[in-house]
Amino acid sequence: MIRFIGGILAAGALALSGCAATGTEMQASFDGSAPEGSPVALNGALSIADGRLVGEHGDPVTLRGMSLFWSQWGPQYYSRETVDWLVDDWKVTAIRASIAAEGQDSALNHFDREIAKASTVIEAAAANGIYVVLDWHAHRNHPEEAERFLTEIARRYGDLPNLIYEPFNEPLRDNVDWSRDVKPYHERMVAAIRAIDPDNVIILGTPSWSQDVDIAAQDPVEGENLGYTLHYYAGTHKEKLRAKGDAAIGAGLALMITEFGLVNADGDGPLDMESSQSWWDWAEANGISWMNWSISDRDESSAALKPGTPPAGWRAEDLTESGTILRSRLRATAGFAEE
Ligand code: MG
Repeated sequence: MIRFIGGILAAGALALSGCAATGTEMQASFDGSAPEGSPVALNGALSIADGRLVGEHGDPVTLRGMSLFWSQWGPQYYSRETVDWLVDDWKVTAIRASIAAEGQDSALNHFDREIAKASTVIEAAAANGIYVVLDWHAHRNHPEEAERFLTEIARRYGDLPNLIYEPFNEPLRDNVDWSRDVKPYHERMVAAIRAIDPDNVIILGTPSWSQDVDIAAQDPVEGENLGYTLHYYAGTHKEKLRAKGDAAIGAGLALMITEFGLVNADGDGPLDMESSQSWWDWAEANGISWMNWSISDRDESSAALKPGTPPAGWRAEDLTESGTILRSRLRATAGFAEE
């Protein structure tokens, strides 16, 4: 999401605080085992083989779910009850925790608070047997803080089968070069994670807000179980970006859409369902996992929830147009009828 570079600064004074569930509250009921029949029970630990995400038996796996919003806003959704609801009612098989790593009110300055939010979501995902993307939600390089955060997560949860790392949400475009700037950052993060967790999948971001997968494909990061994220907003991004995705796939990269919207790249504006359908068709044809931006009650069209919606127990009238479409799509792809 592009717009919040400025938004962080502008909205800092409005940021919510002090109401996130904590990781320690969760730990009493968490033993790391996946419920019978759940996505993690069926597919186990994921890996990347021949440009595809696969489960422990070697079968291709396509995850579909929702991304939470920047963690400093709407922390009520960084909760066990929200994850439970998304699993039970929306039938998500993955969730993305977007741990804020820009601005004063973020993991850059509130390490323990944001570790607690990440832990809550990771443990809730594990308890439900779904996969979780731990997203270091940054637009700029903060290698010291990122390494500290990611290695703490690896120490706590690197043995779980359901954890996926995303060390750099959206590197910027201007004056940001993949080979010079972003690839060395990823090499450092991959080495730091791998020193603790030798195997869980790591999904890498690229310049131009994680659109330059074709450029990364010409000079990929060395290592096992590495994939690349491709972000799109259907109102803004169309065939030209899918062509970059096709080039990356053709070069052998495994892609995952860890973030997309039905709307414009600023997270707002009208829904573009014709473009969204083209993207979904493309993702399905290529077996690419996706997570929608976002579980949030902000007053903007990409938010799935209307302002004031509680952490769980959502009724039809609590959902925005985007949220209604995503819930239907997720339920349909999981084999559940409308209700
Ligand atoms: Mg591991």
